[in-house]
Amino acid sequence: MKKPLFAALIATLAFATTASAAEKFPTRPITVVVPFAAGGPSDAMMRILGERMKVALGETILIENTTGAGGSIGVGRVVHSAADGYTIGFGHLGTHVANGAIYKLNYDLVADLEPIVLLPSNPMIVVSKNAVPAKSLKELIDWLKSRPQPAAAGTAGAGSASHVAGLGFEAVTGLKLQYVPYRGTGPAMNDLVAGQIDLIVDQLSNSINQVRAGTIRGYAVTDAKRAESATDIPTADEAGLPGFHMTLWSGLWVPKGTPKEIITRLNAAAVEALNDPSVRKQLENIGLQMPPQDQLSPQALGDWQKAEIAKWWPMLKAANVKVE
Ligand code: ASP
Repeated sequence: MKKPLFAALIATLAFATTASAAEKFPTRPITVVVPFAAGGPSDAMMRILGERMKVALGETILIENTTGAGGSIGVGRVVHSAADGYTIGFGHLGTHVANGAIYKLNYDLVADLEPIVLLPSNPMIVVSKNAVPAKSLKELIDWLKSRPQPAAAGTAGAGSASHVAGLGFEAVTGLKLQYVPYRGTGPAMNDLVAGQIDLIVDQLSNSINQVRAGTIRGYAVTDAKRAESATDIPTADEAGLPGFHMTLWSGLWVPKGTPKEIITRLNAAAVEALNDPSVRKQLENIGLQMPPQDQLSPQALGDWQKAEIAKWWPMLKAANVKVE
């Protein structure tokens, strides 16, 4: 008889402690784990948002780049950290959908995480090093087909956005690519500019400034319409690959068990950042598209992630991607 009473008392006390911790949250810096290299597109988006979330939350936001294995190591770090709101994970279609079909993860992408908010999305763009003798997507495909060896395509690892987009490019062209994995498309871009690899099917936000500067060539964006920030680059439909569409969405998650009040607070801070006109301007300038206002609840991200898993896993499992 004594034991259940004692247990109930402990549970009440534990609840009281969590409830008051949630009310005061945050009282110290928050770490956002970006599962790709610094200087890449995930890192760039999170740094812009983090600066503004810091104002909303009144605490510093630290960005930690925990890289490797298509972002699955960084996501694991978030899953296994304390569920107190002080460790948040940034992720996208690759890390929070594709990786579940490609890797043997020691966590569940849905059951072990709580969604916070959907973040801006990005079409992909086919880009090559300047030394490739092609002026259009058609010429690029002809050049790729004429080579005795598959071209070297940089990716952020198996299951990353650039890899999933590369698989899509292979499927619509019938080409074979030789994937070169990096810890993010930031370092892959450095090698593309230097001419060490041939191409990337990259996030527009990562490539756009290099294309504008003429240090790499951009051939087509994987969207139904041209990007407002790069109207001179044709869509894949216009450039000869009808239906080659891919939009890379991103989001924030925390470990399962994080108190509801903390999730609400983090969601509100992220929404405040997304709605700030100067933040929007910075994001739109690199080709990012804002999520619709009615899709900004934690629930909306959770539902979207599950729908995307249902859509992508059969295709990715059929592709039978090998990882080391
Ligand atoms: N988002 C990754 C990065 O920031 C790239 C990718 O997923 O392809 O490097």
